[in-house]
Amino acid sequence: MTVHSPRLQNSGGAELNLRSQILFQDPTRTRTSDLVTAVASWHKTYVHESSHWARYHGSTVGILLTLLRRTRDQLAAYTISRLSRRQAGDLRESRSSGRPFLSFKRYPQHTGGELRYDELDWLNLYYAYYVLLDPEGLTEFDATTWDLRAAFDNSLEDAWRQSAGVEMVERRDDTRVSVTGPLKLVHTPEGPLTTRTLFECAAVIDELFQFDGSLFRVADPTLREILHEEMSGEYGLPWRLASALAGRNLGGSVVLALIDFALNPVVPGLTTADPSVGWRELYPPYRFAAAAKAMADWESDLEFQHPGHEVTVHFQRMLEKRSGLHMGRVASRLSGLSTLREAATTPMHLAGRTSAVSFMCASRLLDLREEDVCALSHYGLNFLDDRAIRFIDPDRDMWWLCPVFQVSQGEYRWPAKHVNIDEATDLLLYTAVASAYDDVLHGVGPLAFDHLPRSLFEDGGEVEALNKALKDSTGLDMGWHQA
Ligand SMILES: [Zn+2]
Repeated sequence: MTVHSPRLQNSGGAELNLRSQILFQDPTRTRTSDLVTAVASWHKTYVHESSHWARYHGSTVGILLTLLRRTRDQLAAYTISRLSRRQAGDLRESRSSGRPFLSFKRYPQHTGGELRYDELDWLNLYYAYYVLLDPEGLTEFDATTWDLRAAFDNSLEDAWRQSAGVEMVERRDDTRVSVTGPLKLVHTPEGPLTTRTLFECAAVIDELFQFDGSLFRVADPTLREILHEEMSGEYGLPWRLASALAGRNLGGSVVLALIDFALNPVVPGLTTADPSVGWRELYPPYRFAAAAKAMADWESDLEFQHPGHEVTVHFQRMLEKRSGLHMGRVASRLSGLSTLREAATTPMHLAGRTSAVSFMCASRLLDLREEDVCALSHYGLNFLDDRAIRFIDPDRDMWWLCPVFQVSQGEYRWPAKHVNIDEATDLLLYTAVASAYDDVLHGVGPLAFDHLPRSLFEDGGEVEALNKALKDSTGLDMGWHQA
C-alpha cells in the first residue's frame, strides 16, 4: 500500500496531480479520424485541467491546502532530520514490514522525546488536508475516530505559525486558532459533497462552455454527449444539489459563481487576523450548500446575463448578505518572487520549493481576480472569443494561468522561455523529494512515482541522481527503483 496521491481528473484520464503539481495529459486517443474532433477533444481536456489549476491556486481554499501541505512537508523534513540512528533504523524496518512509521491506527506509536509531538502534529496536518479536499483520501482507518476539531485547530495554527509575516499575516504569540460550531461533513442522498467534487463540477461546466466556440460548432456532437454523461455522475452532484436547494434548475453560469463563492472561505491568518472561524464559514461544501439555499427566494441578474466582472461581484456580495457567510480575500502578500527562474534559483529549503511556485502563481491569479473575477470564476470563458486572444496568445506573459509543468507520454515538459533545462530539472528533483515525505513517514513498500514523469524512472542515471538528492536531504538510505 502506498500513500494517496490527490488528483483532479477528467473522464479521459488526464489529471492535475496535486502531489507534484504536474499536469498529466497525453495526446488524445479518439476513435475518430476527424481532425477537428481530435483537436477539440484535446482542447476540452486542456480546458478542464487548466481550470483546476487556476481555481486551485486562485482561491483561498487552494492556498490554504498549499499552506497545509507545505507545513506538513516542513515538519516531515524536520522530524526526519532529528531521528536518532536507532529511530531511523526503526523507520526502515517498520516500512519494510508493512507498518507505516506514522499511522492513525497505531497512534501513539512514539512516546519519547520530540517525536511524540511531531507524530501528532503531522497526523493532524495530514488529516485536516484530506478532510478539506476529499475525505476519501483517508483510507487507512475509520475517519470518525480522529478528533476533527483538534486536527483543524492545531493544523491551522501550525500553518499560521510557520507562515506568519510571509504568506500569512503577522501572528501574536498567544494566538490560539479555534474552529467553532459543529464540524460535520456534507452528506447528500448521492454521497458526500466534497471540495474536490466542486472543482470537478466547475471544470466540466468550463468544458461545456467551449461548445459556444467556433471550433466546437463543427466537431463531432458525441463530444458534448460525453460531457452530459459525465454530468449525470459524481461530477454533476453539486449542480443537482444546488438546483434542489434553490428549488429550480440553475444555469451553469450561476453554479460556477456559487462554486467560486464556496472555494473562497475565510481563513484565519490568511484572509483575517481573527483566529476564530466558524466551520460553516470555512468548509467549502457547507458554503456551497448555504449559498445554493440562499437562491431559493432570490433571482439574480447573473441568471439572465452573460457573466461579467460587475455582475459576478454583485452576485457574490448579495450571497454574502443572504447567506451570512463571507468571501475570503487574501490579506497578505503571498509571494515576493516575480519569475519562475527566481522560484527555481532563490536559496530555500527544498520542502518549500514547489509551494513557492504555487504561491507565485497564486499571487498573479489573485491580482487577476481583482480586475476580472470571471477569468477565474468562469474560467472556461478565457478560451472563447476576444478573451481567447487576450489570454491564450503564447507571447503574453500569462503562463501562470495554466499548469506550469506537464508530462506527456511519460516525458517531462517545462516552459522553456521561463526556465532552462537545469532549472526545470532542479524543480522536478525538489518536487520528487518533497512529495516523498508522505511516503517515507506514512507509506510502506517501494516509494511511489505515479505522480512523476515515467521517463525519469527508466533511466538508471536519473534514478541515481534522484536517490542521491533524497539521501542528501534526509540522510535516509532509501530510494526509488528503476522502472
Ligand atoms: Zn477534473
